[in-house]
Amino acid sequence: MKTNARVAIIGGGAIGVSLAYHLAKYGWEDVVLIEKHELTSGSTWMAAGNCSYYHPSYYCTQVNMKSIETFKQLEEETGQSPGWHTTGSIRTADNPDRLDELGYYYSMNRCLGLDVNFVSPEEIGKLHPLLDTNGLLGGLYWPDDGDVDPASMTQAMAKGARNYGAELNLHTQVTAIEQEASGEWLVKTDKGDITCEFVVNAAGLWAPEVSKMVGLEIPSIAIAHTHILYETINAVVERDTMLPLVRDPDRSIYLRQEMDSLILGMYEAHGQQWKKNGVPWDYAQEELNPDIDNIADCIEAGIERFPVLGETGFKHVTAGPITYTPNGDPLVGPAYPLRNFFQACGYSFGITQAGGIGHYLAGWIMNGEPEIDLWHVDSRRFGSYANWAYNHEKIADTYPRLYSIFFPNEFRDAARPNRTSPIYEKQKAANAVFGDYFGWECPNYFAPEGADLYEQPSWRRSNAFEQVGRECTHMMNQAGIIDLTRFAKTWISGPGARDWLNRMTCQNVPEKDGQIALCPMLDYNGNFKSDMTITRIDADNYFCVTASVGKRHDQHWMLLNLSEDGSVQFEDLTYRMGCLVLAGPQSRAVLEKAVYGDVSNAAFPFSSCRELYVGRTKCRVNRMNYVGELGYEIFHPIEQQIAVYEALMAAGQEFDLQMVGMHAMDSMRLEKGYLAWKSEMNVHHTPLETPIAWTVKLDKDFIGKDGILKQKEAGVPLQLVGMVVEAKDSDPWGYNPILKDGERIGMTSSGGYGHRVGKSIAMGYIPPEHAAPGTVLDVEILGRLRSAQVVSMPLYDPDNEKMKS
Ligand SMILES: Cc1cc2nc3c(=O)[nH]c(=O)nc-3n(C[C@H](O)[C@H](O)[C@H](O)COP(=O)(O)OP(=O)(O)OC[C@H]3O[C@@H](n4cnc5c(N)ncnc54)[C@H](O)[C@@H]3O)c2cc1C
Repeated sequence: MKTNARVAIIGGGAIGVSLAYHLAKYGWEDVVLIEKHELTSGSTWMAAGNCSYYHPSYYCTQVNMKSIETFKQLEEETGQSPGWHTTGSIRTADNPDRLDELGYYYSMNRCLGLDVNFVSPEEIGKLHPLLDTNGLLGGLYWPDDGDVDPASMTQAMAKGARNYGAELNLHTQVTAIEQEASGEWLVKTDKGDITCEFVVNAAGLWAPEVSKMVGLEIPSIAIAHTHILYETINAVVERDTMLPLVRDPDRSIYLRQEMDSLILGMYEAHGQQWKKNGVPWDYAQEELNPDIDNIADCIEAGIERFPVLGETGFKHVTAGPITYTPNGDPLVGPAYPLRNFFQACGYSFGITQAGGIGHYLAGWIMNGEPEIDLWHVDSRRFGSYANWAYNHEKIADTYPRLYSIFFPNEFRDAARPNRTSPIYEKQKAANAVFGDYFGWECPNYFAPEGADLYEQPSWRRSNAFEQVGRECTHMMNQAGIIDLTRFAKTWISGPGARDWLNRMTCQNVPEKDGQIALCPMLDYNGNFKSDMTITRIDADNYFCVTASVGKRHDQHWMLLNLSEDGSVQFEDLTYRMGCLVLAGPQSRAVLEKAVYGDVSNAAFPFSSCRELYVGRTKCRVNRMNYVGELGYEIFHPIEQQIAVYEALMAAGQEFDLQMVGMHAMDSMRLEKGYLAWKSEMNVHHTPLETPIAWTVKLDKDFIGKDGILKQKEAGVPLQLVGMVVEAKDSDPWGYNPILKDGERIGMTSSGGYGHRVGKSIAMGYIPPEHAAPGTVLDVEILGRLRSAQVVSMPLYDPDNEKMKS
């Protein structure tokens, strides 16, 4: 075994092997994989091997696409068959909400150019004659989906990896991991130590234990998953072509052909967690005892949909452990707060995604940035709240609902609340309907007296629609308070702070004390990394605010780039400071009453910051907001939030000050054309493609400048535009195809209803030649074309008079 390597990959399942294969294939030398038993001996060997393009996320669909592409060419490249069969797959719907969901996938898949079609119950019956179409409303059909033999596929990639020079060490267990003062990693095994630059945790069921070796707690747990292979079925034997994989999500089952028979798999109502306190190191290639009683409902459901199963005996029942994270998606990418330690674990569909994630993660490790935006699976999307206990509660809810309808406005109850603002009880008393964001409870809206305290999940306008409209109107005419305590807040200080921040952002860091600037951070290609606002306190102190869900992501980037000479200090203030946004035309009058000090426009102009006493509490007040009204972000010591809130509410009584939720804020930011992190601002776009190109200052050095200069010379390929859409009762959501004369030219980045302007709005990236205001386009929503017109943004208060008034 090598004692020095570029990268040590821990785990020889589908994921680790795929990564080793791709890194070696793309030219990295000294790729070492360490497997404590045989390859595939964790979850991989017993997987059913279903592989489909389907995934709720646009970017993960691309991972699946890359997987299928990889599997199809493996035999030619390595001489070893991965056991790939193209069978097609069907996802059925037996209710209108499910059809809406399929409509979303249809449209989103069409953004990717995938071959996917709606099929009627009759067509489903023809594609799969053993399926009883009773009660079905239709389905989606992907003709190019299929299945793979997980063990053969992994072995084929292992062969490829070895051919390209990777070293795969079997029967070698990683026992400890240490980081040297030089930053190199020392991976200790029972066969000797390896010094390496990068470590990847692809340890599957044991990934939490491997994470503990470097001091991390990750949310991943094993659940026993069962599938049943039936005895030979004559109707299958007699066929010339293979039957498509069927997923009947409304019955929580899947079924596919295996040789002369069928495999039925299921996500039962009471998923059973396995080895709650950690999987023993010596577990390998062992099936679990299936609990037939626990899956009886799913077996019945299978027989109802596929009557032939009722006449056929079981040949073998496979039960095996699969890793699950709180939302069922894996944990991939750089591990916060470490350098050169990557996660590639928590996979519950690791066969489907193995080929693709090997490719994309290899690129991420080699180039420092992923080729596609992998935020959906980024391990940093969870914070410290997602601990062991949280994960237990969450997974008990996630597993049985794995096939339930995905809705854009659904916030499930399990394992909540976690982080609450001090004014949480007051929000509750005001009928808040909460969502959870990075573990924080935040009111999405405030239900009127007597109304349901529940937002009906839907792809269409929900029962919250009218109330959200009222909140927007109230903000427009009076004043409102939005709780943004969850913002990520970082204090950067020291003699090197100004220069360091100027390198971290493309924008000029404010030069005057008390000045605020929008300062995007870019990656080395010039694409958006983070949405940051910087307030200069004085020459050596800066208050930086970024999106709450991006806390770990953004702070990791800062920490990794921190200068080593000690001239810059980093302090995380997120949990020590709350933030209440006071906005609306009456907000100055409210503030005037609540504070000591002059808050007139002359004394406290737009885009500046003041230290003010709100009641008894010293606050940092930024004259800035995300809703486009006169307004203030009031940052305060978190333990004094109730005092601040009460001072504001008391002052605001005569102005009818009311609380406003997240949904209203999102509607208002769309009307203003403000960019949202990971919607408009992601790794695929630079500021030059957007209306905030003015934040790029080319007369200084900053991370990403080379990429920006290249793009400037070549011209921007896409332009972010705002559109008004002739939507009916379902607004654009993001990932909707944008068409010009029937041809797909782009995709929406976000959308919704703008209540202050009374229009359905979308933002999206399209080629510049179509970006002129007035251009008529189509936006596809839930599979239907809706006319859209490019408009100049912002739609609301285009000259920003209200904010600056
Ligand atoms: C019954 C069943 C059906 C399934 N069906 C499907 C399906 O149809 N489609 C699909 O996509 N997915 C399916 N899955 C899920 C799929 O099997 C997993 O998502 C996938 O195999 C995960 O691969 P992995 O490489 O992450 O983990 P694993 O396969 O668990 O591999 C991790 C490896 O790491 C090694 N390891 C751990 N710790 C150490 C250490 N300290 N030192 C050295 N080595 C270590 C282990 O020995 C193991 O071999 C199914 C799973 C089961 C159980």
